[in-house]
Amino acid sequence: MTRSNEHDPTRRVSYVLPVYNESANIPAFHAALVEATEDRPDLAFEFVYVDDGSTDDSLGELLELRRTDPRVTVLGLSRNVGHQVAVTAGLDAATEPDAVIVMDTDLQDPPQVSLEMLRIWEKGVDVVYAQRRTRRDSAFKRATAYGFYWLLDKVASIEIPRNVGDFRLMDRRVVAEVVRYRERDRFLRGIVAHVGFRQEALLFDRDERHAGTTGYPLRKMLAFATSGILGFSTVPLRMIARLGYALSAASLAGAAYVLWVRLFVPERAVPGWAFLGVGMFLLSGLQLIMMGVIGSYVGRVYVEVQQRPLYSLALAARGGSADRDRTASRR
Ligand code: UDP
Ligand code: MG
Repeated sequence: MTRSNEHDPTRRVSYVLPVYNESANIPAFHAALVEATEDRPDLAFEFVYVDDGSTDDSLGELLELRRTDPRVTVLGLSRNVGHQVAVTAGLDAATEPDAVIVMDTDLQDPPQVSLEMLRIWEKGVDVVYAQRRTRRDSAFKRATAYGFYWLLDKVASIEIPRNVGDFRLMDRRVVAEVVRYRERDRFLRGIVAHVGFRQEALLFDRDERHAGTTGYPLRKMLAFATSGILGFSTVPLRMIARLGYALSAASLAGAAYVLWVRLFVPERAVPGWAFLGVGMFLLSGLQLIMMGVIGSYVGRVYVEVQQRPLYSLALAARGGSADRDRTASRR
């Protein structure tokens, strides 16, 4: 592997850290991260915090970190674009890293685990993803997560590991590929799985949130699960055809039965109003559900075709100066 800078043998590791209303966590998180990374003075670290349009004082807290730690880069997104796009913004902005580590800023992902990831990466693994051995979430979240991963496993065109969030290390080669996926409806863990390279799991125990509340309420969780399934599976589309075949076969059988009654037991003919009524509703219901499935895909095509910029930066503070005029927008 060639290094980004031939004259400087120090390997660069960038942390990409999405932040949404985490002002109560930032100081503790950064202290824990700095303490953990002190174990590796041989590596050059960069901490890319991405403020995802927080409504609290997170941005102020982040800029405060820069006063004492010049390794901190702060990106401020112009509005809340969601965790997946915020991470993408951080990946775009990391300065020629040899490896990138993505982790949450609420101390649910222990910084020590990221050092273990570095050791595995140094053995030549390109992606080290943290897999939850245990998680201290509510029974409801655990159950829905289980159901989601089960379904994803059944329908996805590629194998997306279970119980894996976005806490992972990626080698620069992987990062270079991941940032080429510009789809709007992003399911990063699927994209990383799709990219390939050598990937390994690292088991860890997920902690509880240090402070604050989750930025993933049920509504966002469902939208996220839908992105995962629609983004990596055409099984729902194929099910339309399958159901169509099954219904046609059933209607043929029904027609044969009606004919048989007419010809051989005509005294039994006539009733069937209930059957017709129920059948009509059932069929229109099924049609509507199936049109809904088509609609979700058409909706995605529509959004992708629009090709709007993925995000607009309101601020990019890095290195020596915070230059508000030089905002960068990427597609
Ligand atoms: N986050 C974000 N944008 C959002 C929601 C969350 O950048 O719209 C960040 C959040 O600050 C945290 C990470 O993404 O660092 C994971 O979010 P959270 O902890 O709320 O999710 P959970 O761990 O409950 O799944
Ligand atoms: Mg969390």
